[in-house]
Amino acid sequence: MKIICVGRNYLAHIKELDNDLPAEPLFFMKPDTALLPEGEAFPYPGFSNEIHYETELVLRICKSGHNIEEAEAAGHYDAITVGIDFTARDLQNQCKAKGHPWEKAKAFDGSAVVGKFKEISALQNATNIAFGMKLNGEWAQQGHSRDMIFSFNRIIAHISRFVTLKEGDFIFTGTPQGVGAVRPGDVLELFLEGERVLRFGVK
Ligand code: ZN
Repeated sequence: MKIICVGRNYLAHIKELDNDLPAEPLFFMKPDTALLPEGEAFPYPGFSNEIHYETELVLRICKSGHNIEEAEAAGHYDAITVGIDFTARDLQNQCKAKGHPWEKAKAFDGSAVVGKFKEISALQNATNIAFGMKLNGEWAQQGHSRDMIFSFNRIIAHISRFVTLKEGDFIFTGTPQGVGAVRPGDVLELFLEGERVLRFGVK
């Protein structure tokens, strides 16, 4: 499986990092080795001094497809959860400044964390999904899917023009505002429609 991540999909987050508004979804990938094994703590990597959390809605692809029409895209994912796209912000800023790829800052082991998936059909409000993350018991990020610049269906249509989506792939759909740093000893709790879908620590 592969993990595809969308960047710059919430206006307030684009502003907080002083980025430009994208004309089309911006995406990058993480390998399957980036997925934090279930039940494990996130291992703070030695190569960074600034690991940021990005709390995101994550789609699970249930049907393979290439060049998927936006109108057909909803049939290609069946479940959703909340995840963390861990980012070595210090390395990412160096990569951006040099025009280099971001993999070093985004694709490292443990950098993709996902909670328990919920069937799309079981959502209380599929048109405006509420999600968030508590850091050490306090709300750190809260978002709503209606604030996304590019919808799930638009994202799937766009990505699948270039990359075939396969059953079991995950798509991280971008972070709202409020990204920040974690430190060893921190505890993160992820919430989808008010229900906790994961609790894990940083070691
Ligand atoms: Zn992200």
